Amino acid sequence: EVPEGHFEEQEELLNYTLINQIGEGAFSRVFRGIPQKNSPKAYLTRNFTEVAVKVIQKDPKGGSDKKSEETKKSTREQVLREVKIHKLISCGSGSSNLVQFVDFQESENYFYIIQELLSGGEIFGEIVKYTYLSEDLSRHIIKPLALAVKHMHQMGVVHRDIKPENLLFDQIKFVPSKKVKLRRSDDPTTKADEGEFRPGVGGGGIGLVKLADFGLSKQIHQTNTKTPCGTVGYTAPEVVRDERYSMEVDMWGIGCVLYTVLCGFPPFYDEKIDILTEKIARGEYTFLQPWWDEISDGAKNCVRKLLEVDPAKRYSIDDLLNDEWLNTYDSVRELKR
Ligand code: ADP
Ligand code: MG
Repeated sequence: EVPEGHFEEQEELLNYTLINQIGEGAFSRVFRGIPQKNSPKAYLTRNFTEVAVKVIQKDPKGGSDKKSEETKKSTREQVLREVKIHKLISCGSGSSNLVQFVDFQESENYFYIIQELLSGGEIFGEIVKYTYLSEDLSRHIIKPLALAVKHMHQMGVVHRDIKPENLLFDQIKFVPSKKVKLRRSDDPTTKADEGEFRPGVGGGGIGLVKLADFGLSKQIHQTNTKTPCGTVGYTAPEVVRDERYSMEVDMWGIGCVLYTVLCGFPPFYDEKIDILTEKIARGEYTFLQPWWDEISDGAKNCVRKLLEVDPAKRYSIDDLLNDEWLNTYDSVRELKR
């Protein structure tokens, strides 16, 4: 009953059948796939009836431009680095909030990264485009995200690309007790409609969130934690200096996600990229009225601590996990897990 698609990408792919495209990134197309029975790789997928297959083209389309060779090469290095890191962090008890790594294949024209499929793939990016969430629901997104980042940081890995598109919904697991407010436009100057909106309409709920996309992730030398990750004593000063605040970029990313889910638009925005860059560099954002009027001081405080320009003063992952607002008891929480 499997409707096989006719994808070019399928021709060079063994062991998995591509069904339909479910997502797209800057250098990738992501498909829903089914592990083929009796394939030599079947042992890898005994826990999965379906998988997500991230396909990266080796020679990107339009590769005729000047640095085609270079791009190709760096793509290869990047992909192998992504796979190495994804494998590494898929181990251990804290990995349940990360999209699981399953398998990797390379063919003449493509790289294939096979991962756990998250059925609510693109939904999250869509939700934040049109709506904002209650504080309770925001906590349910930030908490698993924080646990995912905690796991990565403990293993000496920085994600470096935390944003709504890289947060994927797990299967629907609970129904929110609070109404979600719906904004019909991503233009923050239009008034948001209040109404009942349930992400995952039909299923009637919102799933747990998992962190995905390790394409920009980086393993760093551990300078101040106890994780066994190479000998620090031999690390060059410029490396230590450069990596000193690298974990903190993820905290900033979480701050941007938190701000966005709470009000429905991002903290920093300008059509001109240089002005946007300036605003970010100065940490110039506001709790814009009227959208922030009803949001609690606890939530605002949490955003402020994450969107702190000085990385030394910014919330660390442990600060965030201990944050009072994030740990506020609410009725939805009991249903979690
Ligand atoms: P890129 O590195 O090119 O940004 P991503 O890994 O972020 O690629 O994947 C691109 C998009 O594909 C995601 O934003 C998401 O919508 C979808 N996607 C990726 N991985 C999965 C997955 N495991 N399950 C469901 N959807 C996924
Ligand atoms: Mg991505």
